Amino acid sequence: FSTATVIEELITPPVQVTYTQNLINGHFVDAASGKTFPTYDPRTGEVIAHIAEGDAEDVNRAVAAARKAFDEGPWPKMTPYERSRILLRFADLVEKHSEELAALETWDNGKPHEQAAKSELPMLVRLFHYYAGWADKIHGLTVPADGHYHVQTLHEPIGVAGQIIPWNFPLLMFAWKVGPALACGNTIVLKTAEQTPLTALYVAKLFLEAGLPPGVLNIISGFGPTAGAALASHMDVDKIAFTGSTETGKIVQELAARSNLKSVTLELGGKSPFIIFDDADIDKAVELAHFALFFNQGQCCCAGSRTYVHEHIYDEFVEKAKARAVRRSVGDPFKKGIEQGPQFIRVSLSLDTLKQNSKEFLQIDSEQFQKVLRYIKSGIESNATLECGGDRIGNRGYFVQPTVFSNVQDDMLIAQDEIFGPVQSILKFKDINDVIRRANATRYGLAAGVFTGSVETANTMMRALRAGTVWINCFDVFDAAIPFGGYKMSGIGREKGIYSLNNYLQVKAVVSPLKNP
Ligand code: ADP
Repeated sequence: FSTATVIEELITPPVQVTYTQNLINGHFVDAASGKTFPTYDPRTGEVIAHIAEGDAEDVNRAVAAARKAFDEGPWPKMTPYERSRILLRFADLVEKHSEELAALETWDNGKPHEQAAKSELPMLVRLFHYYAGWADKIHGLTVPADGHYHVQTLHEPIGVAGQIIPWNFPLLMFAWKVGPALACGNTIVLKTAEQTPLTALYVAKLFLEAGLPPGVLNIISGFGPTAGAALASHMDVDKIAFTGSTETGKIVQELAARSNLKSVTLELGGKSPFIIFDDADIDKAVELAHFALFFNQGQCCCAGSRTYVHEHIYDEFVEKAKARAVRRSVGDPFKKGIEQGPQFIRVSLSLDTLKQNSKEFLQIDSEQFQKVLRYIKSGIESNATLECGGDRIGNRGYFVQPTVFSNVQDDMLIAQDEIFGPVQSILKFKDINDVIRRANATRYGLAAGVFTGSVETANTMMRALRAGTVWINCFDVFDAAIPFGGYKMSGIGREKGIYSLNNYLQVKAVVSPLKNP
């Protein structure tokens, strides 16, 4: 790997940062405390912009605005068709501003610009088209109950939805949460991840342009233990939806329970198996397994991070997987043809320290990046075979070599923990029963992949795997209509598709007597 190509020839992002304040009741405003925090370019660690740092007081103000917009209207009182039209207009505006949005997303997050522009922005647009389509198709039932009654159900919005999103897909996570909540007629206070606040503020402005009334969508930038916790424990928030780590998901659920028992949906971590049988086309399997793990710098909750390969094809697979990883192009995510940018940076300094240092370049704590390197070290120490990679690239920014381990055993840390980095672990299995048992022996259950030429094997596996998504002969296929969520400690509830509507609706039974039974 050439350090020079990664570090020295950085492209200036073709976009300006325009929105840095919180959006409350239709206005961009400073934090109540006046504080700001920096957001960083993970290519260099340099500050991109200073962002208004929302905390409990800003959350209070945002919730009050959302409450008013819900209780007094206009949002839930508008016709479903009017709401649908706003969602469609918003999608059109996103399409129009796709270039700036993709550039901002890459700058703040480090993901390849081509991925943001060609895949994620179109998915964002598609998702809002999808939920705009649902807005005027939500209705209850008439129920044939015993006795002489007319019984019907009304499917009503829950009220004020709190939403907390992570940094790995800032815009898509925004869409998965905001699309269904608005389609169902709720109002929203959304807290972005402190590492990636930029794009949500930009699209929120587009929502205002599309005609979304003030207070319906409020955006708070800020940290988890302050702004996030205030939202999860707020007495006037009726529902909380969270995506992030399993550890934080537990905290959010506890805060929700301790406050007002608001309903909770969680999309959490994973350690998803990708299982390759010996009847598979090995070259296709290598490519898919590579994609399943390395996509988005390995920073996907559903990454195929346990690659199980049948013993008959194991050695050949490992050789080819290694060759593929070595070929992976790593560098400035703004450059064409780059497959992998820098890892994101977790800012975990105390808020005071951040404040003192936030003026210029800051030697930030790169905990997540260090965590990936620590896992690599742990893989080596536990005697997995390091086939390639294993270190950072250069000494500036947060680039990690695509890393492949073979001879990985189930009890090694690298096979158990979510690494969230470009580290592929290849394990060997003997037969279908062996691999079913081992694939399911995890606290997680977000996704699984199966690669086989046999329909019987595929059918058996799809039933046996305890995971919210099973991809057969494909991986990471996302669509607005396909539900996504976890079994076990990977989460509660499903996002996207028709299933996500349930998260944002409640059912009212209406019973009235008949006159002449
Ligand atoms: P990740 O490892 O993906 O960064 P986190 O769960 O730490 O996962 O973060 C996901 C989101 O949860 C972020 O928006 C973060 O600010 C928020 N968060 C972190 N801690 C808390 C908390 N104690 N209460 C509420 N939200 C939190």
